[in-house]
Formats: sequence, structure tokens, C-alpha cells
Amino acid sequence: MSPLTNKRVTRQRQLVYDCVIDRKDHPSANEVFVDLQSSGIGLATVYRQLSAMVDEGILKSFEHSGQIRYDRLVTPHAHFVCSVCDEIWDVDLPKNIFSMAPVESNADIEELDLTWKGICKACK
Ligand SMILES: [Zn+2]
Ligand SMILES: [Zn+2]
Repeated sequence: MSPLTNKRVTRQRQLVYDCVIDRKDHPSANEVFVDLQSSGIGLATVYRQLSAMVDEGILKSFEHSGQIRYDRLVTPHAHFVCSVCDEIWDVDLPKNIFSMAPVESNADIEELDLTWKGICKACK
């Protein structure tokens, strides 16, 4: 890979990363693509950069309404989803929640997925 290509990849990655950070709303790859359209970045590149960053632990991903959504917050947290506008907010978990993990079942716990559902302030 030439230094020039490397530079381009780094710039594209930075654009994709900044977009997820700035939006704060757990965008899908397509939403990131639409936001970055003026930069000329392709959808396949957006997908590739997002999944590479998830693999590296820089971003997290989860499924919502049949779509993969990207999360800038990689530490454990819950979500609140509005059933009207479908927006997703980050919510802190109670500090003692991991003491409630099912240890007796001899399971390997991988993650906790907690979503509050309701109607947000703007939609009430
Ligand atoms: Zn709402
Ligand atoms: Zn989140």
C-alpha cells in the first residue's frame, strides 16, 4: 500500500468515526453514508471502516429494528428507545447490575443488553 493510499484510508476512517461521534444517535451505516456524501466516500467503504472499528473495539454495534446501529460508547450501558420517533439514547446502568449476572447457570456471560422503551419528551 502506498503512503498516499494509507493517508486516504486514514482520512476516510476519521470522517466515519467523527460522524458516529458527532451524531450521538447510534446511526446505521447508511445514515453515516448519507451524512458523508459530499466527501465522496462510498457505502462499501463506510461499511468496511465501521466494521473494522467494531473489530478493534473503537466502536460497538448492535441490532435495532433489523438494522445494525453503531455506538460511540464502548463501555457497558443501557439504551432508551422512543417507540414513536425510534431515537436511541444512552442510559447509565446501575453500578450493582453485574452482581445480578446468572452465575449459578455456569454460563459464560458475554454482554448485557438492556433497552428501556417508551415515548420521549419530544414525542409526548
Ligand atoms: Zn420520540
Ligand atoms: Zn449506546
